[in-house]
Amino acid sequence: ATPMSIMVGVGKAAEQGILIRRGDALQQTSEVNVVVLDKTGTVTQGKPRVTDLVTAPGVHEHEILQNAAALELASEHPLARAILDKASDAGIQPLSAENIKPRPGLGISGSLKDKMLLLGNPELMQSEGVDIQWVEADLLQLSEQAKTPVLLAEDGRLLGILGIADPIKDDSVAAIERLKKQGAHVVMLTGDNPVTAQAVARQTGVDQVIAGVLPDGKAEAIRSLQADGRKVAMVGDGINDAPALAQADVGMAIGTGTDIAIESADLTLMRGSLHGIADAMEVSRLTVRNIK
Ligand code: ADP
Ligand code: MG
Repeated sequence: ATPMSIMVGVGKAAEQGILIRRGDALQQTSEVNVVVLDKTGTVTQGKPRVTDLVTAPGVHEHEILQNAAALELASEHPLARAILDKASDAGIQPLSAENIKPRPGLGISGSLKDKMLLLGNPELMQSEGVDIQWVEADLLQLSEQAKTPVLLAEDGRLLGILGIADPIKDDSVAAIERLKKQGAHVVMLTGDNPVTAQAVARQTGVDQVIAGVLPDGKAEAIRSLQADGRKVAMVGDGINDAPALAQADVGMAIGTGTDIAIESADLTLMRGSLHGIADAMEVSRLTVRNIK
């Protein structure tokens, strides 16, 4: 391999907004045949909004937003922003909850005015013994609309559900099409629930969905995709993507993502678009062909 052609390749990549952090990243990228995409903030815009509020009998929407915002004030999860914005739109000044405990991949818990609050996905509610059976139909309906249902419980009783939508990026469909034309098997990997994940996947044309994965499980999922010598690129933006970015043969961070994701990756896609992945594959293949 001539250092000269690699330098030219790195420069060409930079012109397209692809910053290469590791010398052999171009070589590795040229061999990729599986591309794994994080959902939130990678395939989707990462600007979630609360679109639905389901309340238990006798519970006011105000109470749901007040309590949910009290927990999310302490959270850096993308869904937290959506809930805080909705509370603010409703004129609510969030009080801050105490004893806050983030539950990675599940939600968050804490206490407010001597009441135990729990906010997160159905698995979190089930693990804490909260009855959610009577909202099964609402959960299914929201998920089939590609929305993420976030449930709120107080002292073990379900108060309501916030439905949160995060539309896909305008060019995600076209970029995924390009990746498939380049011969890549495209996988979406997410901690979100399988029904919501499938609904998003249907809009995008990915070949495979791996959903309901806890943050530790993302790296494990990459490892199993690497079986039989497949070369895997992982693309993500979040703190919870960092182990998977490090495990992959090539880790690609979305430039608008968290610092931890960027530091764990081999290259950064400065433009948020998934076209950056296809561009990186093209440049790397041309570079390696010139070397040989
Ligand atoms: P993703 O892979 O989509 O970024 P995460 O692993 O961060 O997902 O979280 C998985 C699921 O756990 C989320 O879809 C959400 O239902 C729930 N969750 C996690 N943290 C929070 C939070 N702070 N507030 C509400 N829900 C949360
Ligand atoms: Mg993400």
